[in-house]
Amino acid sequence: RPVTSNDMVEDHQITVCVRKRPLNKKEINKRDVDVVTIPSKDSVILHEPKLKVDLTKYLENQNFHFDYGFDEHATNDLVYKFTAKKLVETIFNKGMATCFAYGQTGSGKTHTMGGNFNGKNQDVTKGIYALAAADVFKLYNKAENRKKDLVIGCSFFEIYSGKVFDLLNKKAKLKVLEDRNQVVNVVGLEEKAVSSVDDVLRLITQGNNVRTSGQTSANNHSSRSHAVFQIILRTKKARRLYGKFSLIDLAGNERGKDTQSANRQTRMEGAEINKSLLALKECIRSLSQRGAHVPFRASKLTQVLRDSFIGDKAKTCMIAMISPGMSSCEHTLNTLRYADRVKEL
Ligand code: ADP
Ligand code: MG
Repeated sequence: RPVTSNDMVEDHQITVCVRKRPLNKKEINKRDVDVVTIPSKDSVILHEPKLKVDLTKYLENQNFHFDYGFDEHATNDLVYKFTAKKLVETIFNKGMATCFAYGQTGSGKTHTMGGNFNGKNQDVTKGIYALAAADVFKLYNKAENRKKDLVIGCSFFEIYSGKVFDLLNKKAKLKVLEDRNQVVNVVGLEEKAVSSVDDVLRLITQGNNVRTSGQTSANNHSSRSHAVFQIILRTKKARRLYGKFSLIDLAGNERGKDTQSANRQTRMEGAEINKSLLALKECIRSLSQRGAHVPFRASKLTQVLRDSFIGDKAKTCMIAMISPGMSSCEHTLNTLRYADRVKEL
């Protein structure tokens, strides 16, 4: 039985979980079959099709264990409760929190993070961005946090082929600089003040519109870029950084295969994505290994998130998204192996 709302929410520095989406119409029409089962709240089995030497087909079970396994019946609310919700508290305690959506294109990263919120329709599925924002304001208004005299701001940017673009400022291209004290600064990044959940939702919609403008399916830009949405707490007087929650919709992990593409641009983008996802895994792993080397300079993604990979108060969560179909088996296995390595000691 997969995770249900009655299960206990555990408190880890690193949480790794898997979410399987339902088979979609296209897959059903093509008679694709579901090859993923979630037999308990923390395990996932991929039934991988194989061929014997005499060419008869069989399924080989690949077993994995994670903190939580969510099946196709899980809602965004349920996934949120066991992942990002715990991290909201962290930023009110001077901590840095990150939540990553990892997986192949079409596996449900944007559905989970952004939801189907479009700023107009009220009857929509809220994603983790919106659910986290609501809890940030809830905690912000508690007496004990009121005393801290903080202000809330939001940033939203995209990392595409190793370059940073501001989604809250007409996709302006931004420089990333590191000072003498290794403090990484995205120069000129917009940080919009927000005073309500609606303010946050408007910024998300605005950023998403900028992100997807001019996009065609042939030029599937969003699958090749990382989107980073941040909720930032600062002290009211000095505007000193107090806590930061970064929510990241990662580039499709299958894009790493583009390194073999005939097109030079695509090949380079693929190499950059590969590099950033490998560096990300090592940076997260270093959180659980005291004194470990944090290879944050290995990619732009890990460089801009540097603060989030150091210190005792840094907490992170990765939601590995998987497509259930046999046709996605190879990518699903890659995703499960990657997620497994993020936490393995
Ligand atoms: P990604 O961002 O990983 O490329 P999307 O989030 O865009 O994938 O999901 C691809 C499609 O599958 C979308 O139409 C989305 O609405 C749908 N989808 C994804 N996850 C779920 C889910 N858990 N339940 C229902 N539909 C989903
Ligand atoms: Mg997406």
